[in-house]
Amino acid sequence: MVDLKGQYQKLKNQIDETIKEVIDSTAFIKGPAVTRFQQHLADYLQVKHVIACGNGTDALQLALMALELKPGDEVITTSFTFIATAEVIALLRLTPVLVDVLPGTYNIDPEAIKKAITPRTRAIIPVHLFGQTADMQEIMDIAMQNDLFVIEDTAQALGADFTHPLTGKKQKAGTIGTIGCTSFFPSKNLGAYGDGGAVFTNDDLLAERLHMLANHGMKIRYHHDYVGINSRLDTLQAAILDVKLPHLDEYAAARQKAAAFYNQAFADCHKIKTPQKASFTTHVYHQYTLVLDESVNREPLMKFLAERGIASAIYYPVPLHLQKAYRNKRYSEGDFPVTENLCRSVVSLPIHTELTPEIQEVITGAVLEFIHKN
Ligand SMILES: *Cc1c(COP(=O)(O)O)cnc(C)c1O
Repeated sequence: MVDLKGQYQKLKNQIDETIKEVIDSTAFIKGPAVTRFQQHLADYLQVKHVIACGNGTDALQLALMALELKPGDEVITTSFTFIATAEVIALLRLTPVLVDVLPGTYNIDPEAIKKAITPRTRAIIPVHLFGQTADMQEIMDIAMQNDLFVIEDTAQALGADFTHPLTGKKQKAGTIGTIGCTSFFPSKNLGAYGDGGAVFTNDDLLAERLHMLANHGMKIRYHHDYVGINSRLDTLQAAILDVKLPHLDEYAAARQKAAAFYNQAFADCHKIKTPQKASFTTHVYHQYTLVLDESVNREPLMKFLAERGIASAIYYPVPLHLQKAYRNKRYSEGDFPVTENLCRSVVSLPIHTELTPEIQEVITGAVLEFIHKN
């Protein structure tokens, strides 16, 4: 699905150099590269504070901890996402309240959020799924009217731009709500060579609390003001990410070009729905996800592709409300028809910075061959 080796080859000299520097310095924990990378990412995002941490899941957990929510408080999020989004809510003994998504963009449905609000609701976690932002105008309006926090899960949309439809103000995904969270998992838009994550905010007080929470709740060594966690970005990872950050937009452009190729190739095939982009956001195509017509059998298609050496994947096969660990009397099958239908019919094709038209020709040719034959 991605070509990390090809991407590395292009920056090999710089990356090898920076790794060597960190090893020579032996500043493996909280070295200068971490502060430098945080500053560079903050400049890129035009956000006041970036706090690096161990991974994207920790980033979400830290965000919820910093907002000092109480057990039983309700947090609204989407049922069509990676498990981490809801997992941290449940781990903190908060109540995940899941809602359906929009059929066009697969992002959280603002109308469904409105209906799910109760007196116990404290926060909304929109996920900017597959590389485009959720409807942040609607979501921020709902949050304002109901006095709710907004935590943006931008693990898949780092680098995407949201433009407010009324004011025209352009903001980076993850910098619009109260706190933004991202992941540097190797296959993400900005991938480390191991785990990594970060939290962003424009709020000085929250930033200080986030720094402390990620560091055992302390500001002064061995003086612990909060019950915190240990969640750090390795100096090595920060140094590598700092080399890759200036290429983030160019990586997005490469994926956008690949997505345009796929869109064109599938334009006349009525059994395939290509991704739809909302007007208020750019799409950085963390994933390129098709929705197949009922008449197309997904598993045989994936097998057909695999036999030709073509990767494909299902993001996500089971909605969160039907996961064993998250099933409860609140939900049953049929509650979120859009999400459930997507789980049955989506398939993602390889999308990354190293795709060539020749490779894409083979991929699209194979997909169309299967569809026409069956
Ligand atoms: C990858 C991902 C995460 C978690 O990131 P990790 O770094 O793997 O912990 C959270 N939310 C979404 C939507 C993701 O895609």
